Amino acid sequence: MWPSTGQIGTQQMLKRRFITPRALGRIMPFRMPHLLRLSGWLLAMLALSCMTARPVMAQEILRDAETEAVLRDAVRPLVIAAGLDPRNVDIAIVHDPEINAFVAGGQTVFINSGLITAADNINQVQGVIAHELGHMAGGHVIRFEEGAKNAYAVMLLGLLLGVAAAAAGGSDSGEAAAGILGASQRAAEGKLLAYSREQEATADAAGVKFLDKAHISGRGSLEFFKKLDSLEHRHSYSHSEAASFAQNHPLTPDRIRFLEDSYPRSSAWNAKTDPALEARFQRVKAKLSGYVDPPAQVMLEYPETMQGQPAHYARAYAWHRAAYPDKAMEEVNALLATAPHDPYFLELKGQILLESGHAKDAVAPLREATTLTENQPLIAATFGQALIETGDRTNYPEALRILHAAVDKDRDNPLAWYGMGEIYDRMGDVPHAALCSAESADLEHDFRMAEQQANVAYRGLPTGSPDSLRAQDILLSAKAELAKKKKGRH
Ligand SMILES: [Zn+2]
Repeated sequence: MWPSTGQIGTQQMLKRRFITPRALGRIMPFRMPHLLRLSGWLLAMLALSCMTARPVMAQEILRDAETEAVLRDAVRPLVIAAGLDPRNVDIAIVHDPEINAFVAGGQTVFINSGLITAADNINQVQGVIAHELGHMAGGHVIRFEEGAKNAYAVMLLGLLLGVAAAAAGGSDSGEAAAGILGASQRAAEGKLLAYSREQEATADAAGVKFLDKAHISGRGSLEFFKKLDSLEHRHSYSHSEAASFAQNHPLTPDRIRFLEDSYPRSSAWNAKTDPALEARFQRVKAKLSGYVDPPAQVMLEYPETMQGQPAHYARAYAWHRAAYPDKAMEEVNALLATAPHDPYFLELKGQILLESGHAKDAVAPLREATTLTENQPLIAATFGQALIETGDRTNYPEALRILHAAVDKDRDNPLAWYGMGEIYDRMGDVPHAALCSAESADLEHDFRMAEQQANVAYRGLPTGSPDSLRAQDILLSAKAELAKKKKGRH
């Protein structure tokens, strides 16, 4: 029994696990974080008590350890070339089939899943990101059109941005976070408007410079813009998935001419992508496609006659989503036959086992994946969850240790907080369970819940202990946020 959640009645959250019917519709006895881990992806969504009420266009942020690592490595030289600190620049993958990328203030580049699956190679993605970093470095703030649109999900973009801005530190980080939240609330109400012609020209010129400095060829950028241009002409404009990028970043003939003229002047024009990086990109592209595209489409693009890691990877996800765990496991075993100690293949194996109700069998592969990645926080959170779901109380101390280490590395990991809260709850440790709930509510900017849970934690924890001080911090900052909100309304 969760003792301190008077609001649960109105705030029931669904734990939405992919595929497993037992998980669908399961109401947790605990307040769920908005960021949920699904089949290897951490899906940020507002889990409503009624799933059918989800807006059709609901947007979600996908988090995946392998994909984030590949994008980080591919983008790092460009971020440095832009004079920015790679530790502060985040790449967020938006679950959206439209081909688009944008920055919305702050230091996060948003890339739609549709852009990654449409790109032929990592060099094309690098070209797009170089342009987006041009907008970021130029301080271009994209504006939003009025009109009703998926209010819930885009709020979560605000949440993540807010967290990133707050984590970036500085005396005005709270203000920055509040400002970004405001922008995302506007985003929730409408579509992004286009950057101005001047901003596009500036971002193009900056992108050319960054690619040159990072010694990355502009070929991919040109290929991708031309590809978008042809997609746009092939389909009716409003229905084209390419229209989205073109609407926010108008692809005028003079832009293409400028890029065609500028890129070949760089000494990087003939530079080749590192084959290892390209291979890693093809893997995550296939994995993403397997996760977001309709399974039937995945089977057309990666037919069973097709071998190689990307094809097995895509099909493993597609089968898993289509609720064929045995077929999914065959594909994972084919992957592991090529690389028995690949942490991401082990992670997937563990997830399929966990999500098909075999928590005990999931422990070994997830433990190895966690060790091999030196406790990558997203993988560790899944490992912790598997340990919890074995139902074996002797596993709880290890799960707690793993999850504590995960949040020490990446606090923006509500699944880890949730898992810890679950363990404390099962052990009857109400104050620590409340503290974990307060942490996740704080991350989600649900300040009322954060205040309530932090209060329970504060009253129950030994005075002066670090956890008690942390509860007090959350309590005070939640009170301040609530007061600010109240003041803002008058
Ligand atoms: Zn642009």
